[in-house]
Amino acid sequence: MVKICCIGAGYVGGPTMAVIALKCPEIEVAVVDISVSRINAWNSEQLPIYEPGLDDVVKQCRGKNLFFSTDVEKHVMEADIVFVSVNTPTKTQGLGAGKAADLTYWESAARMIADVSKSDKIVVEKSTVPVKTAEAIEKILTHNSKGINFQILSNPEFLAEGTAIQDLFNPDRVLIGGRETPEGARAMQTLKDVYAHWVPVDQIICSNLWSAELSKLAANAFLAQRISSVNAISALCEATGADVTEVSHSVGTDSRIGPKFLNASVGFGGSCFQKDILNLVYICECNGLPEVANYWKQVIKINDYQKNRFVNRVVASMFNTVSGKKIAILGFAFKKDTGDTRETPAIDVCKGLLGDKARLSIYDPQVNEEQIQRDLSMKKFDWDHPIHLQPMSPTVVWDAYEATKDAHGVCILTEWDEFKKLDYQKIYDNMRKPAFVFDGRNIVDAQKLRQIGFIVYSIGKPLDA
Ligand code: NAD
Repeated sequence: MVKICCIGAGYVGGPTMAVIALKCPEIEVAVVDISVSRINAWNSEQLPIYEPGLDDVVKQCRGKNLFFSTDVEKHVMEADIVFVSVNTPTKTQGLGAGKAADLTYWESAARMIADVSKSDKIVVEKSTVPVKTAEAIEKILTHNSKGINFQILSNPEFLAEGTAIQDLFNPDRVLIGGRETPEGARAMQTLKDVYAHWVPVDQIICSNLWSAELSKLAANAFLAQRISSVNAISALCEATGADVTEVSHSVGTDSRIGPKFLNASVGFGGSCFQKDILNLVYICECNGLPEVANYWKQVIKINDYQKNRFVNRVVASMFNTVSGKKIAILGFAFKKDTGDTRETPAIDVCKGLLGDKARLSIYDPQVNEEQIQRDLSMKKFDWDHPIHLQPMSPTVVWDAYEATKDAHGVCILTEWDEFKKLDYQKIYDNMRKPAFVFDGRNIVDAQKLRQIGFIVYSIGKPLDA
């Protein structure tokens, strides 16, 4: 029986391994983590992450061929294939701080693999890492092993949170990069055989290691760039009277461009886009390509601009001050169908409004108070202007109607389906007047809300008089 071990039971390691276990019943899959609370949650009824369809997949395999454990060394030692799916955040200190990837977790995982291994292994980069990381990993493994052969593969993950299970069941492609040697080819074939249980072979792309590593960074940079492009156009729409939804539709019907990922919004978030672009920027700078670095940096700058623009619009619309005014924040997660708040635009919007002394009442169906308070008290690293903020205390509630009661304004920051179906007449009746709605995701029917009496701001749309 082939044994797989995955180091890192997070948003990627957990769902990815659960799907491998489901699709490959003859393979034993162990997901290990140093976080006891995370592993306990994976072994409980309340999984540590919210992802549609995940509970069902885990229930079908857990205890059969899928195991969650804190006994990292034992499972690594026994495995034939070791996936490494640890976090690779942006460095906050030292060389490259604010841009480079922090590979501390990766390095300690690699050293541990070398220490405990007693047989040959395939080590798979599942985390998103800078191009050429495999070279460093190879050095760490070979210099510390006792004659054991390690083959390093890059197999970046392209799933999107909120649709992770669907994405894993039907991936656009699976990418496997490896060394162009007979051993490298054999290792690639072994991993290909795992995915071939459910992914059509023509959708499994094999490449060299560096192409695979760079492809993941490039894919995220392209996706984020698309959002910044449409958001940049949304600002121009507001200035000219054009409607960004109409512009996106017209642009997206060009088959060379395509319609996906063209929704204007308050900005992108999530743990990956910003960190991976910063990583790309740093790699470009290290390779003597400052113009290319500046090009990608602009994607983040437009995203920051969009978040600031939203805050400024709220304050300007509410007679240039929100001091002492109650503002309801509907949605805190960085997108719908996830409880993940890493780099969510809601953090910057809330901090901006709190900075103008607004009283915030926040509601998100999947994010708890502790997480929101922690996110809002954290400092943000900005490579140009580090911002140091005072801790602030908004109110966090468990109901959209409670959040909006007696509010002067409502900001919709996550596109949760339930926000489309709210009784806006009831909300209007219970709000202070004039009642404002600032739709940061363009999900509500602005015309209908205007008929009720709201003053509505939608991103990239003609403004109310
Ligand atoms: P995460 O923070 O949710 O999970 C990482 C886990 O690794 C944590 O539980 C941590 O405790 C564990 N860990 C760290 N060092 C360890 C060690 N030495 N031994 C055992 N466990 C250890 O991160 P994530 O969102 O799952 O992302 C993981 C990687 O995948 C990152 O590189 C990320 O960029 C990439 N990625 C993320 C997504 C996404 O949507 N979240 C998508 C594609 C790729």
